[in-house]
Amino acid sequence: MPAIDWHVHTPCSCDCITDPAESTHVAMNRGLKGICFTDHVDFDPRDDGVGFFNWKMYNELIDGARGKFPGMHVKTGFELNWQEEFKKEIEAFLEGKQVDFLLGSVHWVSTGFINDRTTYDDRTFDDFIDEWIKESLSLLSSGIADGFAHFDYFYLQTRHVYPSISREDIYDYAGEVIESLITHDVSLEINTSALRKGLDEPFPSWNFLRHFRKDGGNLVHLGSDSHEARHVKFRFDECLKMVKSIFH
Ligand SMILES: [Zn+2]
Ligand SMILES: [Zn+2]
Repeated sequence: MPAIDWHVHTPCSCDCITDPAESTHVAMNRGLKGICFTDHVDFDPRDDGVGFFNWKMYNELIDGARGKFPGMHVKTGFELNWQEEFKKEIEAFLEGKQVDFLLGSVHWVSTGFINDRTTYDDRTFDDFIDEWIKESLSLLSSGIADGFAHFDYFYLQTRHVYPSISREDIYDYAGEVIESLITHDVSLEINTSALRKGLDEPFPSWNFLRHFRKDGGNLVHLGSDSHEARHVKFRFDECLKMVKSIFH
């Protein structure tokens, strides 16, 4: 696994104003060999990001970062928010756009955004996770994803709503998704933003990753999910040590 931060946003994401040149500079100063810019691509009308991404502006920003830091591997990517119901729109968007790393994520279910508490109103965990699994399997079988973003991001909310469901339980619930990740050679993201959002382990947890390894998973990548330059490579050193001890 090269020393790259695989999940960083630019002002082509509606929730980020940080110039990628600035993030690349921080990545270089912190000893990374490269950085990958994965901007949000959204289709659900409930999402503020719909229609925000601008391919021309994105390429200009990336060219700017590459020009300033020629020694750095500046990679292109998307954080594509997968929803089966927008499959046609997604395919149309991707037509003619080549990137180095396409990160698939599941941000929405029928009842809302997975990091909104109200999404879980009047739902059991089983009911929610069934829908999440269906969407995730649809993403993985679409063949578009190189990586799968922040596996148990929903845990930020589900830990409060369903306190009896632990992060390890999620592994058992999501068995089919894990199998599909492995079958389709999709890289499982170790997303360190969890560590700045109140959790003491990344998305997914270390025990989750131990199970994943035991079940034959070996494709992982690290991403900080930075929206600000200061978060680039956030707590990578300690996480890399853990990753090496699990995936040696
Ligand atoms: Zn995301
Ligand atoms: Zn992100």
